[in-house]
Amino acid sequence: MTDDRPDLTLVRAGRIVCIANQKGGVGKTTTAVSLAAALAELDVRVLMVDLDPQGNATTGIGLRVEEGDPSTYGVLVDGLPVTDAVQTTSNPYLDVLPSSLDLAGAEVELVPAFSREHRLQRALEPLHTAYDVVLIDCPPSLGLLTINALVAADEVLVPIQCEYYALEGLGQLLRTIELVVNNLNRELTLGAVVLTMFDGRTNLSQQVVDEVRGYFGAKALSTVIPRSVRLSEAPSFGQAITQFDPASRGARSYQRLAQEFATHLGLRVEKPDVSPLDRLLGTQLVDDAEPSNLDQEHGS
Ligand code: ADP
Ligand code: MG
Repeated sequence: MTDDRPDLTLVRAGRIVCIANQKGGVGKTTTAVSLAAALAELDVRVLMVDLDPQGNATTGIGLRVEEGDPSTYGVLVDGLPVTDAVQTTSNPYLDVLPSSLDLAGAEVELVPAFSREHRLQRALEPLHTAYDVVLIDCPPSLGLLTINALVAADEVLVPIQCEYYALEGLGQLLRTIELVVNNLNRELTLGAVVLTMFDGRTNLSQQVVDEVRGYFGAKALSTVIPRSVRLSEAPSFGQAITQFDPASRGARSYQRLAQEFATHLGLRVEKPDVSPLDRLLGTQLVDDAEPSNLDQEHGS
């Protein structure tokens, strides 16, 4: 036996992963939904927590939650048991703690509250053995909601968009993580960085990849998510990309990311690895300079 990673069934406590970057539009929610779905398809038990009042992860996975319905707001502000708010999905391995617009008030309502930074951590405690991975989709700010996620988490996954000023603002995020480590959650680590919206037509995308890899080293995951129209279309159908268009480049890239991330977390996934062809195409996502290939989703 050369593989001494823990058997999934023996893993006692699920890993809590906070997907954070205070910049909006870098792919946090797309990564939360797509990675959650792709991990669940590998039979990893996943809870996706929507911590953004916009609720894009909630609707993106096909759930509709009105203000006043059980959601992250009730859990954080009213102390509602988390199990009362968790919803199931069509995949038995994927559950969701949804959010709705009333969560926008939580940022202010929690300010005078007792142990306001630890609300999410306490709420998730009863679920520790129920899931292998908890993925938290954070809002685009470093306010109290994101702080709650960082306090609850074991590690942070940072999506970085392959765009101008990709690294701008990251210093602030890293300092916030350091503050949380020093004051609120000693166990927190920067787990990984994932590059999103890679565009093979531009030198800029490759420059950002090089820059991020130079800066973050092995923490930058080798799977790079391409810019893909199908990925931006999936949310309006209330489906994760792996369900909406499983053969698309976007779906295949998130499937590869799920494999890589599961390995990073030390989870042994039983399903076969991506095919050698897919692996080959995956490398080409980075090298692909052919403009017409970019949004040609199937096969070619
Ligand atoms: P964030 O949660 O960080 O604000 P989103 O995941 O909501 O970012 O992404 C911002 C926008 O970009 C959304 O409209 C989303 O559909 C789109 N998008 C995200 N990732 C990709 C991608 N790889 N290719 C194309 N569009 C994407
Ligand atoms: Mg978002």
